[in-house]
Amino acid sequence: MDYYSRQISKLIQELSTLPGIGAKSAQRLAFHILNMPQEQVEELSTALIDARRNIRYCKECFTLTDEELCPICKDSTRNHKVIMVVENTRDLAAYEKTQKYDGVYHVLHGAISPMLGIGPNEIKLKELMHRLAGEVEEVIIATNSSLEGETTAMYISKLIKPTGIKVTRIASGVPVGGDLEYIDEVTLLRALEGRTEL
Ligand code: ZN
Repeated sequence: MDYYSRQISKLIQELSTLPGIGAKSAQRLAFHILNMPQEQVEELSTALIDARRNIRYCKECFTLTDEELCPICKDSTRNHKVIMVVENTRDLAAYEKTQKYDGVYHVLHGAISPMLGIGPNEIKLKELMHRLAGEVEEVIIATNSSLEGETTAMYISKLIKPTGIKVTRIASGVPVGGDLEYIDEVTLLRALEGRTEL
């Protein structure tokens, strides 16, 4: 990329490290940014820095948030006795989009994968068990239907069973290996409503 000046090359190079952004897209974005009004670029960069700097885990459900408690855990109109276990914050957002789930969540930040060396201690599982000491009536396991997601679901259900708390698994209308965030809301709702007890 010698035909661009050093700073333009640097901008293109940084943008191309983002997922789904190849060399061509990075160039297109870079020139788009360079043509934006100065204030707009400043707002964009401030948003990036602020989000990264202030983001942390909700102390209750471990979703990514910029406050101690996320808006969902803070909301007293939601049913705090039903906890839906998801792999990541994007999956949580997918269920929130349906606007039909009024329980709370628990974000694992991953799934058990013996192949990748990710064990139960590498995800937020202890934290989930800790929450079950409170008043919980049902745990809905909504991990992906991938091998890792199923392994995690089985593992969690075995852990929870002895406590007597109801454990359910979302229906397998969800495509195998499919990321929850790419599934339409109707399919997600059907999976939730068709959940079965483990
Ligand atoms: Zn929360």
